[in-house]
Amino acid sequence: MKNDSTPVPFLDLSREYAEIASEIEPAVLDVLRSQAYVLGPAVERFEREIAAHLGVEHAIGVSSGSDALLLALAALDIGPGDQVVTTPFTFFATVSAITRLGAEPVFADIAPDDYLLDPEQAERVATDRTRAIVPVQLYGQCVDPNAFDAIARKRRIPIVEDAAQAIGARRAGVAAGAFGDLGCFSFYPTKNLAAVGEAGLVTTGDERLAARVRRLRDHGSERRYEHLEVGWNARLDAIQAAALSVKLAHLDAWTAARVKNATRYGELFRAAGLAGTLTLPTVAADATHVFHQYVVRAPRRDGLQAHLAAEGVGCSIHYPQPIHLQPCFESLGYRPGDLPESERAAAEVLALPIFPQLRSAELERVVEAIASFYLG
Ligand SMILES: *Cc1c(COP(=O)(O)O)cnc(C)c1O
Repeated sequence: MKNDSTPVPFLDLSREYAEIASEIEPAVLDVLRSQAYVLGPAVERFEREIAAHLGVEHAIGVSSGSDALLLALAALDIGPGDQVVTTPFTFFATVSAITRLGAEPVFADIAPDDYLLDPEQAERVATDRTRAIVPVQLYGQCVDPNAFDAIARKRRIPIVEDAAQAIGARRAGVAAGAFGDLGCFSFYPTKNLAAVGEAGLVTTGDERLAARVRRLRDHGSERRYEHLEVGWNARLDAIQAAALSVKLAHLDAWTAARVKNATRYGELFRAAGLAGTLTLPTVAADATHVFHQYVVRAPRRDGLQAHLAAEGVGCSIHYPQPIHLQPCFESLGYRPGDLPESERAAAEVLALPIFPQLRSAELERVVEAIASFYLG
């Protein structure tokens, strides 16, 4: 493999753009010419389309995935004195949404096979101050909705899904973003459905919560200059919505390409005799995984990462430091060893290129470069 040194990108957004430039450029130009830049018809159209696509009653376009989480928790009146149970093995914004509202994050560990919040551990750390549980549909796979639903009913604790990585994923017949009281999506440019800037979405089946999120995204206002409560400026802008409408029509094909790449990795790793060395992603029997990331557990992970970098193969670590050990959350009092599976995952996981436009020769080169590290 040393004879082919063409770099393999971890993610190359220019290839997606090339596919859709002829559709997206006129759509963006329409917004520019309309001068309806914030909310307005393009946003309303995207909200209708995505609600239908996800099979949810209400979809509210917002400024980012981070703000989607903030607004969803705020719509449940979560604030100082409240606790919210979540996973420390996630992107920072899952947890900062909780603390930005003055509430306290309480961490439960992940299951080692799928890296997702373990429902039993989540229930174990819940107290009478727990006002929400936030499972994260990490890497593109959903938690078991029935397990979390059972906790929610028994303990009367709402569920807020962080579905930022899982648009289109399903588990036990339920779509990501459709089983919690509220679902939160991100359309950050690296996500499976990506804006041309910052954008996010809140989903819900509850009309009252939907109205609350709509109000909170717009300074607590339903009528201009009348503020029923203090909210934020967390509106979706129209250029993003127009771009997202174009891309939504391609999402299923892009997801299928991700799944195909994941299947191919599995075949090639097994053929190379690496399936016992690497721990490949597991997909639950009742799940469709959308492979936002293709993540393996790798022995001598940091050495492998350095080797791949030297070989020109892009890879990435999601996430190298669990949130309970982040410097800014020191005052929460967690110590190394408190959430052992999250800490072990942080030390062992490696994400490989999986984007829909990855070429099969590139995917093969990733496998060869990994084989040359372990097998010489
Ligand atoms: C991307 C992401 C977010 C934040 O979304 P932004 O749009 O970047 O604010 C939150 N949670 C998870 C799990 C994410 O992957």
